[in-house]
Amino acid sequence: MTKQYDLIAVGAGSGGLSVAERAARYGAKCAVIEAGKLGGTCVNLGCVPKKVMWYGADVAHTLQDARDYGFDIEVKGFSWEILKKQRDDYVAGITRWYHTYLKDSDIDEITGYARFVDAHTLEVEGKRFRAEHIVIASGSYPVVPSIPGAEHGITSDGFFALEQLPQRIAIIGSGYIAVEIAGMLNALGADVTMLLRGEQLLRPFDAMLRECLMEEMINAGINIVTSSRIAEVVKGNDGDVALICAETGQSLGRFGQLLWAIGRAPASAGMALENAGITTDSEGHIPTDAFQNTNIPHIHAVGDVTGRAQLTPVAIAAARRLADRLFGGMPERKLDYELIPTVIFSHPPIATVGLTESEAREIHGDAVKIYQSRFTPMYHAFTRHQRKMAMKLVTVGAREKVVGCHVIGVGADEMLQGFAVAIRMGATKQELDDTIAIHPTAAEELVTMR
Ligand code: NDP
Repeated sequence: MTKQYDLIAVGAGSGGLSVAERAARYGAKCAVIEAGKLGGTCVNLGCVPKKVMWYGADVAHTLQDARDYGFDIEVKGFSWEILKKQRDDYVAGITRWYHTYLKDSDIDEITGYARFVDAHTLEVEGKRFRAEHIVIASGSYPVVPSIPGAEHGITSDGFFALEQLPQRIAIIGSGYIAVEIAGMLNALGADVTMLLRGEQLLRPFDAMLRECLMEEMINAGINIVTSSRIAEVVKGNDGDVALICAETGQSLGRFGQLLWAIGRAPASAGMALENAGITTDSEGHIPTDAFQNTNIPHIHAVGDVTGRAQLTPVAIAAARRLADRLFGGMPERKLDYELIPTVIFSHPPIATVGLTESEAREIHGDAVKIYQSRFTPMYHAFTRHQRKMAMKLVTVGAREKVVGCHVIGVGADEMLQGFAVAIRMGATKQELDDTIAIHPTAAEELVTMR
């Protein structure tokens, strides 16, 4: 017999869980279909375990600074095994909690891969399920390039499976994952080389952030090799890999570990989307309209699979608004994809929202006015290891409306959320200036910039 639902989410990651949870609260009968672990990438192979590792790396930095603050300490070692176990136990606890939560919320958990039979019916391991609304929230997976020997490298998935701290690692890529993992491993004691095909880290971000991060990473001892395309990976008998440069044919070095961090592709294959008539773009993303509808009106998509802003809170926000619209009596509810704040957990972290300076100049020309500042935060006033801080406000027009805010430095990650609210509400530079500074903090610079 085919079981009937009001809503089925394909994928129980951030998007799928959120849409089912919110819809169930409105009284809809819901199910989630998941082949892997509940919580998806964010909980199991992304944000959550990454942040644990980032905290670990932060502790390493604090220990470096401890002597300058008068502590007579000797660090006798670091156990990757202990940190990994604590992290994995923590993540397992979250996943267990999700099982209970789904049960308590009367949301059915269906285990396996979903395939469309028709536009209302899904099949999972021979069983059929029908729904009024289907939400595709199948996420994405890390890309591995199609070059000879690429399989000798790991991706961020493999990073979380590492049983030991890699001694000598090459990281290919220049985005979020590459800079985050490079910073963590460097702080924890690995010898890290980043290989960029271009000249810059974090190309889409504001130039100030890019330049400052590059400087900080080099100062921290990370080897950054620019303009290096890899044509082939050759594994030696000793287990090391050699990276062969596309331009010169020469080896770019030998490494004990290789990690690809060159983007994530949509997980849209294998679902027989054609049986429901759902179209994808050339990269496999499932495009949606502003209301998260695919080309089939009662089939929706949220999160990474849609190809828009691959960020957990974006998937959650889109999913909750979709449930509000479908079952909560809010017909116009949808996610505004403008002004999405985001943090890169590099060392030091980056927090950013809105237009970069160059984007603003392209749109608004001479109406743009920039305020920026670069300084040593007080914490580092007398530490041997110095990490600089940089901030930029991008304003537009006579009222100097703030359209972009970019921060790099210790504490940036916790600093931006409140400013993102103000910017979303249309704050002007004068309104920031009229706000009393909190002293002494680094954040006060954002309300005192000249
Ligand atoms: P990103 O899109 O952030 O960066 C990948 C970069 O790698 C590209 O911009 C490109 O830079 C470079 N690249 C692409 N192909 C190649 C290649 N063949 N060889 C060498 N370099 C290449 O991807 P990530 O994998 O880092 O992360 C995926 C997404 O996951 C992010 O975009 C983000 O949305 C999300 N994420 C968010 C996090 C957070 O919120 N803190 C943390 C981690 C991930 P260029 O063109 O300049 O060479």
